[in-house]
Amino acid sequence: MRPETPVTELKGVGRVRAQKLHDAGIETVGGLLNMLPNRYEDRTVFGGFDLPVPDTPVTVRACAGAKGTVRRIRRGMSLFVLPLIWKSADGKTVKAEAVWFNQPYLSGTFAPGEELLLFGRITKKDKEAFRMYAPKFARAADEETFVRITPVYPKVDGIGPGVLSGMIRRAWDDLDAGMTDPVPDHLRRDYGLPDYRETIRGIHFPENREMLDAAMRRLKFEEGIRIATGILRIRCSGGGTRAVVRDFDQVRAFAAGLPFELTGAQKHVLEEIFGDFSGDRAMNRMLQGDVGSGKTIIAVICAYQMALSGYQTVYMAPTEILAEQHAKNFAALLEPHGIRTAMLTGSLKPSEAQRVREGLENGEIQVAVGTHALIQEKTHFYNPGLVITDEQHRFGVRQRGQLSNKGGCHTLVMSATPIPRTTALTLYGDLDLSVIDELPAGRKKIKTYFYTTKALTKIYGFIEDQIREGHQAFIVCPFIEESEEMPEVADVTRVCADIRKFAGKRFKTEALHAKQKPEQKERVIRRFTEGKTDVLVATSIIEVGIDVANVTTVLVMSADRFGLAQLHQLRGRTGRSGTQSYCFLVSDNLNETTVERMKIIVNSTSGQEIAMADYRLRGPGEYFGFRQHGYGGLRLLDPLAEPELFDSCVKAAREIYDSGSAEDMIFKDRLLSEFDEKTREISMT
Ligand code: ADP
Ligand code: MG
Repeated sequence: MRPETPVTELKGVGRVRAQKLHDAGIETVGGLLNMLPNRYEDRTVFGGFDLPVPDTPVTVRACAGAKGTVRRIRRGMSLFVLPLIWKSADGKTVKAEAVWFNQPYLSGTFAPGEELLLFGRITKKDKEAFRMYAPKFARAADEETFVRITPVYPKVDGIGPGVLSGMIRRAWDDLDAGMTDPVPDHLRRDYGLPDYRETIRGIHFPENREMLDAAMRRLKFEEGIRIATGILRIRCSGGGTRAVVRDFDQVRAFAAGLPFELTGAQKHVLEEIFGDFSGDRAMNRMLQGDVGSGKTIIAVICAYQMALSGYQTVYMAPTEILAEQHAKNFAALLEPHGIRTAMLTGSLKPSEAQRVREGLENGEIQVAVGTHALIQEKTHFYNPGLVITDEQHRFGVRQRGQLSNKGGCHTLVMSATPIPRTTALTLYGDLDLSVIDELPAGRKKIKTYFYTTKALTKIYGFIEDQIREGHQAFIVCPFIEESEEMPEVADVTRVCADIRKFAGKRFKTEALHAKQKPEQKERVIRRFTEGKTDVLVATSIIEVGIDVANVTTVLVMSADRFGLAQLHQLRGRTGRSGTQSYCFLVSDNLNETTVERMKIIVNSTSGQEIAMADYRLRGPGEYFGFRQHGYGGLRLLDPLAEPELFDSCVKAAREIYDSGSAEDMIFKDRLLSEFDEKTREISMT
């Protein structure tokens, strides 16, 4: 079979299963084989019920201590508890149990004394006993099939995980040996990449980490070279009109009339930008500045200048929530000067969106603030002069590409990530860099603390004191609802209930998360920004989402679950005014790496320093975790974490871009059409 063979040719895939696969977007054998696991369970790492408790799941060899019992807990919920017997190296018997939620049918599965293999996370139950939540298990006789690096695939509705793995196995077994590899031989040789078959094997049936790493490397390489090739093409097209401005007196007066004095760094950056506006080529500039350094006002001032000169400004925010807030800020600062601003996001009513689009097309609206809805094909601009993309710490390769096709506008990309210059150059093309390297005067360092959950009541009390002084607080949790496998990880639902119980009628708490409907989210946010709610319990959506200067406390629950750069961003949701602000990181995970990571955040306030420490601490094998990148089309490759690999991709892209060999040309065309496809996919989400 070949990758393009329809799945129906596979044994065991009939009409019904083919339809289910089709619903999941899988039509061919290749599509099935390209299905990437969400993560892997490395069951080859063994552990036991002794201290210290390992941070990651492990396989334990233990005996069933009894048949196990089903217990009814809360409404409709049951718990199956299996006592375990395990002996430590010094021969002591340790008490432990495995528990499963809502799987009463497990009773009768285990025989007392039977030897088992269990894979899962170990936690301490109490002083003497250990517990494993919802472990995967097998009998000792099945060791060979159980103890492997096991892929965990995304759910396909109507097809169980076992059946799905079986299909993938068959697809791999039946794959033609003699097929041509899409990646040209010379690239595979030069960059040390496994061939297609080896890659697929490494992804789905890795025998060890090395094999998986090699396969991952090739997939990352394919992502990187796809983006790099796409960017080469963007750079080769372009052209159009460009705003030219000569007189900056009026905009300087506007800046001087703001409620605060610009920092030296902000003034310097503005002069650099004005230099571009009056120069003889379109600006392509990246503005880097740590969270809270005041990038937005630079955007506002630039928009003012463009409007004065008769050009429109397009400002794109990473989330709808942020777009709405920025739209308000822009309006408040610019409308009094007779400049028309408007917001355009995906959640506007069609009729409203239509009105805004008309205003942009006939030039009545001078400044548009929005999300990617702004750059959809049906939006036309009367006279666009400046496009600003606020990325916080994401990348938006594609937005830039799409917008630069709308004419040779000036472009400004704003980022809080200290992206190394070479990486930035590749991601964004030939650009200049401006840096805001100082925070507004009078900012107080955010006091940051690391505690275990034992301190929670005290922290709640602290938050209450802050509320009494008229301030607000954010509480961030990794999950929306309680997770069966990781009940110790905090979730919005439980924490919200907990703090409401604590607060009684003394203050108001609301929840915000991705499962709410857009209208509901909007209402929650509005009430919070208007000060009607005191505490917002949310998932990390607030990370790039909400700016409320009145927030003086950020409490991050299960803080060990977040990346360092993310924690820095979350902390940056406070300290946005002159008032002393506080950040509490809470976690009961006290293993060495966690403590070391928390210390970095506690001791450093520099985004640059934190980012560097983050990359240092994150070793290879990252995909054993839960991270996924939102970068334009990059799912596996993080250019910041693996700059050398990314550089190789860029080099390889250049090699094939101008190559005359048929093999290279076919590969290039394939990369470009994939680039376009991904670009479309992303801009629709
Ligand atoms: P970021 O760079 O993270 O986007 P913002 O632009 O949101 O930061 O600015 C953070 C806060 O600082 C905002 O409330 C903004 O009004 C304020 N701010 C910006 N520049 C100054 C300044 N020069 N002096 C005082 N406050 C400022
Ligand atoms: Mg910002």
